[in-house]
Amino acid sequence: MKLVLATSNKGKVREIKALCKDYEVVAYSELIDEFEIIEDGKTFQENALIKARAVYKALGNDTFIVLADDSGISVDILGGKPGIYSARYAGSEADDKDNLYKLINDIREKNVDSSPAHYTAAIAIVTKDGEYCVHGWMYGTALTEVIGIGGFGYDPMFIPKNHTQTLGELDDEIKQKLSHRAKALGLAKIILQTL
Ligand code: IMP
Repeated sequence: MKLVLATSNKGKVREIKALCKDYEVVAYSELIDEFEIIEDGKTFQENALIKARAVYKALGNDTFIVLADDSGISVDILGGKPGIYSARYAGSEADDKDNLYKLINDIREKNVDSSPAHYTAAIAIVTKDGEYCVHGWMYGTALTEVIGIGGFGYDPMFIPKNHTQTLGELDDEIKQKLSHRAKALGLAKIILQTL
């Protein structure tokens, strides 16, 4: 079964490919030119569905199964920010590093050096037979320092619950077992088996 990912985020593509070894997984940019998708939903679920629908429509081929991930980090001391705005927290042109350092500064401004936080992933599946969406979460602690070089995005400032190292230090295989994306994909695979 061929799964088309409605993302060009290299970190997500790498993780989803590793977690879906039983499927032929391709990023949509391997099939058609990348295009801008306006993510103006108010929830992770709405944004995941917006991305999956946009790519399904652009592919114009109803044999494809399109899978989209919308995800982000929510920090308790910041009232749940950046949440659905994780990808553009430091501005519309911001890259992962800008967003990471803005989050660290915003937590420091609250005069703490860490805060409980969690990641959310919504995975949407769009096929000719219907639309689905599932979620996964990973709880832990957001730090005000960068430790490690692994993972992507906010990983070097996040220690998962029951661990002592950041996702920037832990092996990819460990993240694959406990991540928000892995949990959501576990549910998505159950849906894929029914298609
Ligand atoms: P999206 O591509 O619009 O879903 O944006 C996701 C944002 O959350 C990006 O800034 C990512 O870097 C960040 N993010 C999502 N999942 C992870 C993760 O597993 N590790 C680190 N950052 C993540």
